[in-house]
Amino acid sequence: MKLTDIRLQPRHYINGAWVNGTTTGISINPSNTAEVVAEYARADRNQTDDAIGAAADALPQWALSTPQRRAEALDMVGSELLARKEELGELLAREEGKTLPESIGEVARAGQLFKFFAGEAIRIQGETLASVRPGIQVDITREPVGVIGIIAPWNFPFAIPAWKIAPALAYGNTVVFKPAELVPACGWALAEIISRSGLPAGAFNLIMGSGREVGQTLIEHPAVNAVSFTGSVGTGKRVLEATTSRGAKVQLEMGGKNPLVVLGDADLDQAVDCAVQGAYFSTGQRCTASSRLIVTRDIHDAFVVRLRNRLEALKVGNALERGIDMGPVVDQSQLEQNQAYLNIGREEGAVHVWGGERVERATPGHYMLPALFLAQPEHRIASEEIFGPVACVMEAQNYEHALALANDTPFGLCAGICTTSLKHAVHFKRHAQAGMTMVNLPTAGVDFHVPFGGRKESSYGPREQGRYAAEFYTTVKTSYMLA
Ligand code: NAP
Repeated sequence: MKLTDIRLQPRHYINGAWVNGTTTGISINPSNTAEVVAEYARADRNQTDDAIGAAADALPQWALSTPQRRAEALDMVGSELLARKEELGELLAREEGKTLPESIGEVARAGQLFKFFAGEAIRIQGETLASVRPGIQVDITREPVGVIGIIAPWNFPFAIPAWKIAPALAYGNTVVFKPAELVPACGWALAEIISRSGLPAGAFNLIMGSGREVGQTLIEHPAVNAVSFTGSVGTGKRVLEATTSRGAKVQLEMGGKNPLVVLGDADLDQAVDCAVQGAYFSTGQRCTASSRLIVTRDIHDAFVVRLRNRLEALKVGNALERGIDMGPVVDQSQLEQNQAYLNIGREEGAVHVWGGERVERATPGHYMLPALFLAQPEHRIASEEIFGPVACVMEAQNYEHALALANDTPFGLCAGICTTSLKHAVHFKRHAQAGMTMVNLPTAGVDFHVPFGGRKESSYGPREQGRYAAEFYTTVKTSYMLA
């Protein structure tokens, strides 16, 4: 029997055992709100304390485990994710609402992340230097940070936990993982694989429940040495305050309002492709979504017409149906927020080009059409993160104006440009105020082996992914020895 054939009953995983919650919650299929995907355990503060205690107790043993053992555990998790990507992708599509191909791709990426960090576990490097004083040798080594609290959002329920859990374990830390309440079954499915990977009891713990109770306990608890958080700017600020005030290490990946600049010399079809993929795929629910399309005057009208035509042809529907381009919005409250922004856009004078209407399909779900507006930089729909399938086109006089508009935002996650000019591409890569830049590519869609993260209000602390992850998940020791 497949996971997707049954209503799941995920439990917490604490100290190597599956544990009932103090209460239960349900997760709903956003493509068919009549369907309960999972009835899951929810924890209170005491249960969260138990998970943190288990991770603290397991730390000495896991921190001293051999790199070979860590690599084998992570490699096993990666292999199973890859082997079961269709089944787990179906679960993801059912619980989060991403289309099936996107969901399968995300599970595969999670598998690749585990395999990458399996390799990193056996490549942990240090340095040896001669001292400036005679006869002394200096070693610089990396050690685990300790117990890591991992708080994840709902929009990438396999990939984001994977890019946090895999490096945490690879570098010898122990983990308490809290998935978002909208996607407990995905968090549990990942944890269930990890539970069979040969880790000592307590090295990895899953705890489900609300951000306000479970998340807050994780960020405040003195035994949690570091917190890796991905989510909204508002929650991120609370996480920052609670962790830095007690001296814990913290890493935050937050929102975005990413620009895609389109210059007059761009290949128009390619630029429209980048806009459609970047702004609307995954229902626009990506921190790297290109929600600001900044187009120079010479190509503006032609771009808008072509983009509108493409949007009219996009198929919105049940995430599990083959041939669908865009699934539903994740839940009712996000759908209402998207609709509220459409009204704000109209009230502020943005020009509605196409879409945004709620639509019905064969199953009851949170469906809406992708929306496009012409906007000015001061409009709220063009400056605030909506986190839905809503994009704005802003007209720029020339490249310099487009770059200024692109950088005119408190966010700085990703910035893209479509152009055939090498001069402008190189200049943009250098001067875009973002952690990641893309040339002739959608702003969303990244590799698993290189750093991920942003600047300004989008991120705080060391980068995630790639070998740069070691900055967060290890602490450096400098040792002197008289030789
Ligand atoms: P969110 O509401 O901030 O929630 C993120 C996580 O924090 C959830 O697990 C949530 O728990 C938890 N949380 C809530 N309150 C907390 C508290 N007081 N203490 C500790 N944890 C708490 O964000 P979201 O709606 O899930 O995700 C959407 C946001 O994530 C967007 O802004 C998006 O841009 C951002 N995002 C950023 C990146 C990136 O890498 N930059 C990637 C993906 C998403 P619950 O289970 O209660 O919700």
